Amino acid sequence: MLEELPGNKEEGLFERYIQVVETGEPQENEFYYEHEGIKSWFMNIAVKLEDGFAVTFRNITQTKQSKLQLQQLNDQLESRLNQLQQRNQEMLLLSQMNDFLQACLTLEEAYKAFRTLIKPLFPGCSGGIFITKASRDFLEAVATWGNLPIGETIFHPKDCWCLRRGREHWVDGDEIDLFCEHTDRILPPKATLCLPMMAQGETLGLLYLYSDSRNHLDENKRQLARTVAEQMALAITNLQLREKLQNQSIRDPLTGLYNRRYLEESLEREIHRARRHQHSIGVMMIDIDHFKRFNDTFGHDGGDAVLKEVGKLLKSHLRSSDIACRYGGEEMTLILPEASLEITYQRAEEIRQFIKQINIENKRQSLGTITASFGVACFPQHGITSDAIIQAADTALYQAKKQGR
Ligand code: GH3
Ligand code: MG
Ligand code: MG
Repeated sequence: MLEELPGNKEEGLFERYIQVVETGEPQENEFYYEHEGIKSWFMNIAVKLEDGFAVTFRNITQTKQSKLQLQQLNDQLESRLNQLQQRNQEMLLLSQMNDFLQACLTLEEAYKAFRTLIKPLFPGCSGGIFITKASRDFLEAVATWGNLPIGETIFHPKDCWCLRRGREHWVDGDEIDLFCEHTDRILPPKATLCLPMMAQGETLGLLYLYSDSRNHLDENKRQLARTVAEQMALAITNLQLREKLQNQSIRDPLTGLYNRRYLEESLEREIHRARRHQHSIGVMMIDIDHFKRFNDTFGHDGGDAVLKEVGKLLKSHLRSSDIACRYGGEEMTLILPEASLEITYQRAEEIRQFIKQINIENKRQSLGTITASFGVACFPQHGITSDAIIQAADTALYQAKKQGR
């Protein structure tokens, strides 16, 4: 029989027949048969027959093949289902991210949210979000996750192929020479993906992902990364615009100082704080002397130049908690939280001296010496409401003017 089926070299076949004879238990097994171009599956059934045994071979190739096909289909279906479930999960996370980004009020908030929301979308990957700094000289990480080394959080745009070419840059381990300069060279990853975050033709920054396995950054994941980068870019431009508009609504465009509305709001807020913590607030009113003369002699531009310069000086002498505002015309106000009357007076005297040293030219013509008069007042000595304190500082200023500026 083994001669009849010469390709069947299955181990232990004969032992099985012996067993059938010895125990009387029938046996069946499937085997693959390949000989002289014939490739088939057989079912081999052995039963005891009196003191010998009978063997049946049934060709089950067709059944076997359809079973295998079915198995393959089933596997495909299962993996498709897995993929769908994964896509579904990603969509959920993505829409959650969108919800969050819409609710963010500042860029800082959005950057914080990025890290937490993006990491779970790319399991097995490390990465970071880099933002182009206003000077355009470098990119800085605003969010990182995984093993991104600390040293890799700032780099020059020329160190990234994606930024140089203005498009996606994908490298897997075989093309190691194409890695960007900002990629970790000591422990190079297997796959890296750099995606530009673009809005209105401008590169806002970069989404950088990398992994030790190519599988973690397959085409599906790369597509997801593209969507994420687009949505982040949208959120960033929206928030940048929002911050710009907000800045415009609280700042005076000529001097860059806060406007009067912001001054009033801030003083109210500081008074609340000062009440709670029982400290004082210094308020300083500054009025440029004979300002009309600058306008009359050098034109409105000349007057504007003086205002700009005094504004710049005030800003450069601010401490972090001070608030400098343009109260109106050529009058400016400084709020000094936690400052006593004594300190407010000293600061006023300092600023007075600095203003005297200003030397500006307009159309190659020196504008001469600028002087200013000051009035200072303090919460709570001179008033406990914002109006009362400003009024007190204004009265003091008027007195300074009357006594010779
Ligand atoms: P003093 O305070 O010493 O009594 O004299 P002054 O000349 O500074 O007095 P006043 O407050 O009467 O003059 C303010 C002038 O400032 C009047 C206004 O035309 C001018 N002014 C107000 N806002 C601006 C501005 O934005 N730019 C320019 N160039 N001038 C302005
Ligand atoms: Mg004046
Ligand atoms: Mg005035």
